[in-house]
Amino acid sequence: MSFQNPVFIPGPTNIPEHLRKACDMPTIDHRSPLFGKILHPARESVKKILKSNAAEIFIFPSSGTGGWETALTNTLSSGDKVLAARNGMFSHRWIDMCQRHGLDVQVVETPWGDGLPADRYEEILSADMNHEIKVVLATHNETATGVKSDIGAVRRALDAANHPAMLFVDGVSSIASMDFRFDDWGVDVAVTGSQKGFMLAAGLAIVGFSPKAMDATKTANLPRTFFDVHDMAKGYANNAYPYTPAVGLMNGLNQACIMLLDEGLENVFARHHRIAEGVRAAVKAWGLTLCAKEPEVYSDTVSAICTPKNFNATDIVTHAADKYGVAFGVGLGEVAGKVFRIGHLGSLTDVMALSGIATAEMCMVDLGLDVKLGSGVAAAQNYYRNNTTAA
Ligand SMILES: *Cc1c(COP(=O)(O)O)cnc(C)c1O
Repeated sequence: MSFQNPVFIPGPTNIPEHLRKACDMPTIDHRSPLFGKILHPARESVKKILKSNAAEIFIFPSSGTGGWETALTNTLSSGDKVLAARNGMFSHRWIDMCQRHGLDVQVVETPWGDGLPADRYEEILSADMNHEIKVVLATHNETATGVKSDIGAVRRALDAANHPAMLFVDGVSSIASMDFRFDDWGVDVAVTGSQKGFMLAAGLAIVGFSPKAMDATKTANLPRTFFDVHDMAKGYANNAYPYTPAVGLMNGLNQACIMLLDEGLENVFARHHRIAEGVRAAVKAWGLTLCAKEPEVYSDTVSAICTPKNFNATDIVTHAADKYGVAFGVGLGEVAGKVFRIGHLGSLTDVMALSGIATAEMCMVDLGLDVKLGSGVAAAQNYYRNNTTAA
C-alpha cells in the first residue's frame, strides 16, 4: 500500500506539502495577539474567496456538517418553515438535520442527477403569501451526483416572488474550487469545510453570515452553545475562541488562502474546469455517461460516472484500492452501486488527473467492462494538450 498516490475522492483532497508543514506547529498561546496574526488574516482571506464585502466569517473546530448546524441553530426557531430540494445525499442530510432540530421542511423531491429546481422554488415562494418560509436551502454542488446548481437562479426566484426568506448555501464541495458569489447572489449563510477546496485535513467548519443572517440571530431560539456565533465573535475580538481553537489547522487555512489568492481565484476555477473537462472527455471515450443529466449542471469538482446495468460500480472502487492503491469515491444513497466518483478538486494538476483516469481505466478493463485500454487517457491527453496553461 502506497501513501504516495494522489487520492481521487471528492474530499478530503490531496494536501500540498507546504500546507502539511504549515499545520505542523509548536504550541502557541491561543489567546494572544500571536494567534490573532493567524486568525484575522484567515478570516479576511475567506471573505475574499467568498467574493464578499458584507459577510462575517466564523471558523469552528468542526466539519462541514457543523457548518450546517451553525447556519440553522443561530438563525431559526423551533417549528420554523424551511424550503429545500433533495437531489442527492448531501441535500438529504441537511434536510434530515433540519427535521431533527424540529424545523418544518417543505421538501421538493428532485431526480438525482438534476440541479436545484429554481422554477419550483419560485412557485412555492410566490404561493407563500404570509412569508412563513424563513429559509431556502441550496446545495451548490451535490457531491453525491456531481451536479452543480445555479445559485443565481435561486436568488432570482426569491426576488421574483418578492419573498424575504434567507438563502443558505452549502458550498462545501464548491467554495475555493468553483466560482462562488456571496454578495452577488444575495447569500445569507455560506457553509464550507477545510478538507475540500482548501486542501487541508478535515477539522474546520467555515461559514459566512450576511448582515441579515446576523439580525436573525437576535430572535432565533434553537438551542446552541458550541456553534453560537456571538460567543465566537466575542472571542475573536480578543484574538481568541470561546474554547480552544485548532491552531495548526488555522495556520494551514491562512496559508491555503494565500496559495489560492496567489494563483488567482479565476485561475483556480479555470484549472478545475480544465481538469474536469479532461475527465469528462475520458468518460465519453469509455462510452459511459455521467449521473449529471445536462452539461449546464456538470460539476467541475467531482464526476459521478454511471456503469452499465448489472455491474456493481463499487467494485471499481474496491479493486482500485486493493490492486493499485488508489482511492475513488463510491456511489451514495440512491446511486450506491450505480456510480463511482472521480473527485477532481483541490491540489490537482492535469498530470495527476491523467494518473487517475489511467487507473480507473485499468480497473474497468480488469473487471471485464467493455472499455478500451488507453481510450480515456488519450481523450484526456488530447484535451489537456490543447487547453493547457503554463505549469
Ligand atoms: C463533504 C460535504 C459535506 C459534509 O461535510 P463534512 O465536512 O464531511 O461534515 C456537506 N455538503 C457537501 C456538498 C459536501 O461535499
